[in-house]
Amino acid sequence: MNVLYATSEAAPLIKTGGLADVSGALPAALRKIGIDCRVLIPGYPAVMYKLEATRQIARFDNFLDAEGKPLAARLLLSSMPGSETPLYVLDAPSAFARTGGPYQDSDGLDYLDNAHRFALLSQVAALLAGADSPVDWQPDILHCNDWQTGLAPAYLRLSGSTTPSVMTIHNLAYQGIFPPETLAESNLPASSFSIEGAEYYGNLSFLKAGLYYANHITTVSPTYAWEIQQPPLGMGMQGLLTSRQHQLSGILNGIDTNEWNPASDPHLPCEFNARALGGNNRGKKLCKLKLQEELGLEPLADAPLFGMIARMTHQKGLDLVLAVADGIIDRGGQIALLGTGEKSIEAAVLALVARHPGKVASLIGYDEGLSHRIEAGSDLFLMPSLFEPCGLNQMYSLRYGSVPIVHATGGLRDTVEDGVTGFVFNQPTPHALWLAVERALDLYAQKSAWKTLMHTGMHRDFSWEKSALAYQALYRDLSPAQT
Ligand code: ADP
Repeated sequence: MNVLYATSEAAPLIKTGGLADVSGALPAALRKIGIDCRVLIPGYPAVMYKLEATRQIARFDNFLDAEGKPLAARLLLSSMPGSETPLYVLDAPSAFARTGGPYQDSDGLDYLDNAHRFALLSQVAALLAGADSPVDWQPDILHCNDWQTGLAPAYLRLSGSTTPSVMTIHNLAYQGIFPPETLAESNLPASSFSIEGAEYYGNLSFLKAGLYYANHITTVSPTYAWEIQQPPLGMGMQGLLTSRQHQLSGILNGIDTNEWNPASDPHLPCEFNARALGGNNRGKKLCKLKLQEELGLEPLADAPLFGMIARMTHQKGLDLVLAVADGIIDRGGQIALLGTGEKSIEAAVLALVARHPGKVASLIGYDEGLSHRIEAGSDLFLMPSLFEPCGLNQMYSLRYGSVPIVHATGGLRDTVEDGVTGFVFNQPTPHALWLAVERALDLYAQKSAWKTLMHTGMHRDFSWEKSALAYQALYRDLSPAQT
């Protein structure tokens, strides 16, 4: 079974969110169970810089840039750093060699030619999966991810290819919607601009194209697969998703248990594991003390320390956290926040820190190492997302003995068990979050019950193996001739 996994980001090469974690880990997990899964990614500078040995395997002469001029593009073959997973890199400097991030410039503004950039990625993905591929490796399945590769199933189907495609929704809030003129420059036929196609309320939606033309749709948790079939989380796509409910499944993401292992994590000042909880639990305690030191929090061993790591967007429920923060401090707690995103949220977080020096600390920015140290050093982890397709941080938290407090939505509902591994609240309101925080603080005061909670969470298995088997079963259904 050969699978081409097309993605716009993959850890450790380039990451803005959970899609990168999945793209970094799932292909490797699929390869472990005998699937020849290969990744296709754009050659952003961050990617080109990190590649080890590369070899040019194709040149593309037919693509045009956003102004209609011929565009230099080639395909390189390399491998994911530190792994055997083959990596196809689309090296098209005019589209991808930019100084900012993968989607936005350094001021946080979307690149004006994003439609063109990701139509190009999608066209190359479809080309590699079709009969006219310039590469001597033929996928049995094309697996696409989010709007950036959403046009690929459309190109593939409209080219007459019978290679099945899978479209995975990592977050339905990002739909890749562009004005109707984008259709022509994307090389899609006019006939595809319809309700039965890529059109979405008069515009072109890359994601909708994928949802319409792919043979199967997956999303990253069973609960989210259900939630997106109705408003509000269907975000306008609920009709299409409901009509395709028999080709829609939710497969829970796993986590990279090597990268996220408190017993061998190089980012931590000290290692620890679940067994040590039975003893003096020195490792986790030291991680907490060092985190307090690093962030300028008071070095109080018994103060319940709440961690939070999130893109600072409305989705992540920072408003709720801001609303209960004073209550947490009043009860002797501390808060450590890491994230970057919307300026107004960042400003509100900084104002909270200024109100509670030594008790609330934040780092506005992206810091991989600190994200590990917050997971390790916190006693509790806040994840009150309004919606959360899967969420990874709550699984990292469970593994690191940082008890999660989560809103019952999407993957949060599927991974945290109320009163058994964490605390789950039903309504995304400050009051409901506060009641969950109070329950957590009451239990935190009971040392042995708290240890049991941590222990149970640390033993939950969220490795990729289980998810990889579910994808394998799906691929087999779609391409029964292959095993
Ligand atoms: P999403 O994909 O919506 O951002 P997830 O929980 O699925 O949310 O994944 C987010 C990933 O990005 C996690 O690995 C998380 O630790 C990481 N992350 C988010 N913000 C930061 C940050 N500021 N610094 C370091 N890592 C971050």
